[in-house]
Amino acid sequence: MADQTKQKELYEKDKRYVWHHMKPYQNDQNPMVIERAKGAWITDVEGNDYLDGMSGLWCVNAGYGRDELVDVAAEQLRQMPFHPLSNSHVPAIELAEKLNEWLKGDYRMFFSNSGSEANETAFKIARQYHYQNGEPGRYKFISRYRAYHGNTLGALSATGQAQRKFRYEPLLPGFIHVHAPDEYRAPDGQSFEEWSLACARMMEETIVWERPETVAGVIMEPIITGGGILIPHPDYVKEVERICNKYGVLLINDEVICGFGRTGENFGYQNYGIEPDIVTMAKGITSGYLPLAATAVKQKYYDVFKTTDESDHFRQVNTFGGNPAACKLALKNLEIMEKENLVARANELGSRIRQSIEPLTAEPHIGHIRQQGLLIGIELVKDKQAKTPASKEMVGGIIAACKAKGLIVGKNADTVADYNNVLTLAPPLSMTDEDCDLIIETLQSVLKDTAIVAQ
Ligand code: PLP
Repeated sequence: MADQTKQKELYEKDKRYVWHHMKPYQNDQNPMVIERAKGAWITDVEGNDYLDGMSGLWCVNAGYGRDELVDVAAEQLRQMPFHPLSNSHVPAIELAEKLNEWLKGDYRMFFSNSGSEANETAFKIARQYHYQNGEPGRYKFISRYRAYHGNTLGALSATGQAQRKFRYEPLLPGFIHVHAPDEYRAPDGQSFEEWSLACARMMEETIVWERPETVAGVIMEPIITGGGILIPHPDYVKEVERICNKYGVLLINDEVICGFGRTGENFGYQNYGIEPDIVTMAKGITSGYLPLAATAVKQKYYDVFKTTDESDHFRQVNTFGGNPAACKLALKNLEIMEKENLVARANELGSRIRQSIEPLTAEPHIGHIRQQGLLIGIELVKDKQAKTPASKEMVGGIIAACKAKGLIVGKNADTVADYNNVLTLAPPLSMTDEDCDLIIETLQSVLKDTAIVAQ
């Protein structure tokens, strides 16, 4: 823990030099400066401990403080810290094979460093695949409102959250958005299943109206995560796959958050029995210890890159993508997840939280509780009858009250105007039973506290 003088100095320097992600300017508030972390817990420079209910940014799946992860990365850095994947190296080969096993399919990996890059890579591969497969006119991508796909211009173009795009536009042409079915907000008179199939039909109609021969791919997260934990009806996901197959459109699954056990399966799409053409992943691949991402592409698409015209290969370099230490660490991370059965544990803990907090739906401001594995969303409303989204003040007050009790919870921030009303939880899959109880107790006490929720 830093002494008071040091703390003051850190806060001042932070305010002077660091530009924070997503934070409105607030010079009167000190940032939370995290110094140490262990298990599911983080500690700030003032010595305050918090249970990290968001795994950092949905990524520290195996928990903090794993010496084994640090040791394999250090060993690899000593042995061979860097070599680009224009050649190859052992950790990348081993990891590509292991990821294929987790994907339960026949995929080839292109490594990069972040979820945004993994999605950009998917877009480029999809376009080039179609070009070389005799359909050069396919360049458009369809994605869903409320979903986030990254901060780079292509990934942001695919993002369906207007607040993340405002003032950075115009973005790229050829990115088209359709509705994602939202169980809580299905139109009056329609069941979730009917609304889901109606949304799938709208997607199909969009492909037809755009002309299928111009559409390269559909990108979707199996469960919309940062956009508000929107869990689809299983029939919808199967229907999207059927539509993509029917029109020769590649199905790109963004598993940046849903991957690596978060939803109670290795990858989120495995909950729905589909086989995406391309799978993008990052975050949990290394449990956030080092940057790494991958774009997994079905081998049959790689085949069209094997021919010999000088432009036929994938002409993309990524200096740091597939860093040997990151790959080695990822392999160890997957080994730990297997050894400790963390994927099954996500289901067990998630169900326990869900069952314990389900009665809170009787509270006047809790609209809907959603859970799949250790992805939990609590939609807050001002007026339950009208489903009016809760005010910014109410959501902020609840998050602050949880923090005061030692629990970090998140929300869907800066997504779609007036719909940033979903509390999110994605704790480490490795958390203990006691950690799980603390999450339950904190939510139960804060969400029932009328003084907190009356804002
Ligand atoms: N896709 C999804 C679903 C994400 O949630 C994110 C980031 O939160 C990204 C892509 C972009 O990942 P990154 O921040 O690593 O670029």
